Amino acid sequence: MEVEQALRERIAGMERRIASLERLVRVSLILNSTLSLEPLLQTIIEVITELTETEDCSILLFDEKTGELRFRAARKMRQEELENISVPIDNSIAGWIFRNNKPLLIRDAQNDDRFYQGVDRKLDFQTRSIIGVPLQVRGRAIGVLEAINKRGGREMGWEDVHVMTTLAAQAAIAIENARLMEELRKAYEKLHELDRLKSDFISIAAHELRTPLSLILGYASFLRGSATGQASEQLDIVLQSAMRLNSLIGDMVNLRHIETGEAQLELEVFSLNDLVRNCIQEFLSLACAKQQTVGLNLPSPPLMIEADRQKLHLVLGNLLSNAVKFTPSGGRIEVLACEHDGQAWVAVRDTGIGIPRKELDRVFDRFYQVEPSLSRRYEGMGLGLSIAKGMVELHGGRIWVESEVGKGSTFIFCLPVTQSRCKGEEPSSE
Ligand code: ADP
Repeated sequence: MEVEQALRERIAGMERRIASLERLVRVSLILNSTLSLEPLLQTIIEVITELTETEDCSILLFDEKTGELRFRAARKMRQEELENISVPIDNSIAGWIFRNNKPLLIRDAQNDDRFYQGVDRKLDFQTRSIIGVPLQVRGRAIGVLEAINKRGGREMGWEDVHVMTTLAAQAAIAIENARLMEELRKAYEKLHELDRLKSDFISIAAHELRTPLSLILGYASFLRGSATGQASEQLDIVLQSAMRLNSLIGDMVNLRHIETGEAQLELEVFSLNDLVRNCIQEFLSLACAKQQTVGLNLPSPPLMIEADRQKLHLVLGNLLSNAVKFTPSGGRIEVLACEHDGQAWVAVRDTGIGIPRKELDRVFDRFYQVEPSLSRRYEGMGLGLSIAKGMVELHGGRIWVESEVGKGSTFIFCLPVTQSRCKGEEPSSE
């Protein structure tokens, strides 16, 4: 009879264990799917109180700033209370667990030297027995999980320690993930704010710079008209520098418009051949000064496209300016345009210094320059190609580069041509 009774008790014990393991599995699923810290901590303490049948349960996390353990969740404490209570690492049970990274079961807390009375006093509570287990991430303790006073005056056992250790392993990882997520969210918000500040700064700086700059340009051109000899040479330098500054400000504003989504297309139907010719015209004197030859290969009849003329002018201008800049004296620059698969293709080819293979994608990143800026032989801010890319993509097109170091580069962009609307339009020249 006694044997049967003992057997029945053992079976009941095993059933309890299975039920608690089942609960643990379900909880670990919840823990793995929650990335919000506060609800996660709340779930952990609810479950631990239920599984260990204790009066209270709390989570303390190590605060790197103060070097103390700080309550982050507890069943019996309100949020305001929690925030004001911390536990020292020295002379406290939680501190011992944290420092030694080991679980602890204390059946008579009041007579344990390590017990810290401060929390009981603040909460008007009496801790009799306590189980604490470390919360570990990759073997390092990040806090402590505690359960206090078994309900109904019963004794805590190692079975409870086992349950808590199992759950603490899952909980610690979930807490760490939630914390990382929180940090990521904050960093993202900060980045967003910085981006907004940068955008505002560019817009204000551009506005403030443009007014005095247009005055300088105006007066310098006026004086240039009547100047002679050395004065006219000096005024040419002033004018060139002012125009360069003006185009840098223009680049910054354009980039800002692309990034903030403010850039909009003003579509019109025009001849791509004309656009290429006009653009080349602007760079002829620069190319001539470097004894570079310039070639053109345009379709006949001229290719009519519907696009934003000004923006494409800027794209082509940036590509031509780079071609002239990065091609040594005596080199060749060629522009080719054609229609292919219902798209307009434009290629700017040079026999310049070329771009190393691993840099080919990066040259389109803003402020990216192949040569580090301090040792650069070439002028520029590293914005031209990122603006060109933004403008081409705004048209639904794409841009890329093929290049070989020492031999030259070909920048190609293609745009969808809306044939139906362009048909029947007369080319303006050719
Ligand atoms: P910037 O010319 O003002 O430096 P870009 O965005 O126009 O800025 O170009 C980025 C970088 O790509 C340049 O600094 C240069 O290193 C490289 N690059 C662009 N075009 C050429 C080219 N035609 N030949 C060689 N390198 C080029």
